[in-house]
Amino acid sequence: MALTHCHVLVIGAGIGGLTAALSLQRHGFRVSVYEQASELREFGAGLLVTPNAMHALEFLGIGEPIAATSNVSNELLIAFISLMPSATLCKTKAASPHTL
Ligand SMILES: Cc1cc2nc3c(=O)[nH]c(=O)nc-3n(C[C@H](O)[C@H](O)[C@H](O)COP(=O)(O)OP(=O)(O)OC[C@H]3O[C@@H](n4cnc5c(N)ncnc54)[C@H](O)[C@@H]3O)c2cc1C
Repeated sequence: MALTHCHVLVIGAGIGGLTAALSLQRHGFRVSVYEQASELREFGAGLLVTPNAMHALEFLGIGEPIAATSNVSNELLIAFISLMPSATLCKTKAASPHTL
């Protein structure tokens, strides 16, 4: 029996759940996503999408709309913040662009 006859229930509409649901749907599964929160909304933090994650999103066909509404850069500024009064800043060039 082909597994695509299965109706897959995904619990949680976070990045993991939605990515799994979209991927399963693209492979012919019937998918329902259940989320406990009454609404999905922004909570005020930016999200850095690394190149490997962007490749996965492109594979799923949603790379373009995400890139169109993001800042795409090869430069990455990492701040190592410790209990010391000064923070160490490390600027690096990435081989592939990061999406924020
Ligand atoms: C402030 C902040 C900044 C971050 N920045 C980055 C970043 O820049 N780049 C990056 O890669 N990662 C970042 N992360 C980490 C990233 O957000 C998480 O790794 C990612 O969201 C995890 O996704 P997830 O789908 O596994 O879980 P979640 O996003 O936690 O989603 C789980 C979902 O399941 C739902 N749920 C749980 N239990 C049930 C249930 N019993 N029934 C129904 N629904 C349920 C929850 O309500 C939730 O919506 C950040 C995290 C935080 C908190």
